[in-house]
Amino acid sequence: MHAEEKIIKGHCPECGSVKNADIVGAHEHEWRHEDESIWSQIDYRILKCRGCDSIYFQRAEVFSENVNYSYDADGETQYEYEVTYSYWPSPLKRPRPSWLGDLVSVDLDLFSILNEVYSGLDNDLAILSATGMRTAFDRATELLDIDPAKTFQQKLEDLFAAGMVGAAEKNTLAVLADAGGAAAHRGWKPDPRQLATMMDIVEAFCHRNFILVSQVDKLKPHIPAKQKRRPASKSAQNLGNL
Ligand SMILES: [Zn+2]
Repeated sequence: MHAEEKIIKGHCPECGSVKNADIVGAHEHEWRHEDESIWSQIDYRILKCRGCDSIYFQRAEVFSENVNYSYDADGETQYEYEVTYSYWPSPLKRPRPSWLGDLVSVDLDLFSILNEVYSGLDNDLAILSATGMRTAFDRATELLDIDPAKTFQQKLEDLFAAGMVGAAEKNTLAVLADAGGAAAHRGWKPDPRQLATMMDIVEAFCHRNFILVSQVDKLKPHIPAKQKRRPASKSAQNLGNL
């Protein structure tokens, strides 16, 4: 190991991606095919974050067949080996929201799907997590009486028309639909930041439509009725319009 390689960039579980870290332990594993010019190299590293002193583990794999090609200014072909990184603890790991358990009384299926998504995130399973988020959203819209046979875009239009999502949120949710579909059908692998944004959307949607709504309903009887100068029967009507 060269001196200048003792500090590298890593995804700290506390500080986030691309943070300087000291390599405090390392092991290199190489493999070569006997006849073909195919090889792989895996670097296992124990890293210590230079920001928060957290200790975490990085695995960096290079496979000879996994190459990105590009052209320089002279039209010469440039190639670069793609490095696949994985970490422990998982960078995707995210805390469960405090209201997650309350979903049990709303819908057990939605609760179970979301729990599997969190497990996927904990274990760095990006594609499974993305498709799980899409499944969770489909289940959530079904609970809101959106026809499950409709396309995702139609579901979004229905939710928008019913005032359950805003225009900006509708556009963001459309990305979620594409993301789940791309992961499922075209092997697209979302990065940690994209997954975090997608999970933000799913959590906000579930919280607003299933948790907040029931909390507001519970709150309503405790809000004192306005003092009315009109007869009692009229004031009951006015309250009904609130
Ligand atoms: Zn850190």
